[in-house]
Amino acid sequence: MVTRPLNPIRVGGEVDALCTKCELNLAHTILAMVGTKVIRVRCNTCGADHQFRGTQPLQKATSFAAPKKASTPRTTAAERVVLNFEEQLKQKNQVGARLYSVKETFKLDDVVDHPTFGRGFVSAVRGDKVDITFRTFDKTLIHGRTPPPDPAAS
Ligand SMILES: [Zn+2]
Repeated sequence: MVTRPLNPIRVGGEVDALCTKCELNLAHTILAMVGTKVIRVRCNTCGADHQFRGTQPLQKATSFAAPKKASTPRTTAAERVVLNFEEQLKQKNQVGARLYSVKETFKLDDVVDHPTFGRGFVSAVRGDKVDITFRTFDKTLIHGRTPPPDPAAS
């Protein structure tokens, strides 16, 4: 009396298995078995031989938690300006800082103390106007309203 196996799996037969190359559950031809256990299979789609792993939910491989985003400390534009300003001001001759006045004549890199805006330095001279960089902003101010001392005198 022949007992018909419930499981018709046999070498040369077909079994659904996860193909590691196709990355899909596909029909495979059984290449090797130990007892009732399928050992090696060949993908009917791509022809690759590989170990039988059964069918697997594919999302398992990719369902790992996404790495937590490293919170990069963000420097705001204002902070950058301040840092930049401090750095730049350090390089100026602050001992020679002068109080801002329209009657004064400033030149590039002069350090200026402004009664309202605080300490800054001249970043550009354009005729009777000077661009002064203060801590958080630039300001165009008028200068040289009286004739400057003769530059040849020095
Ligand atoms: Zn395949």
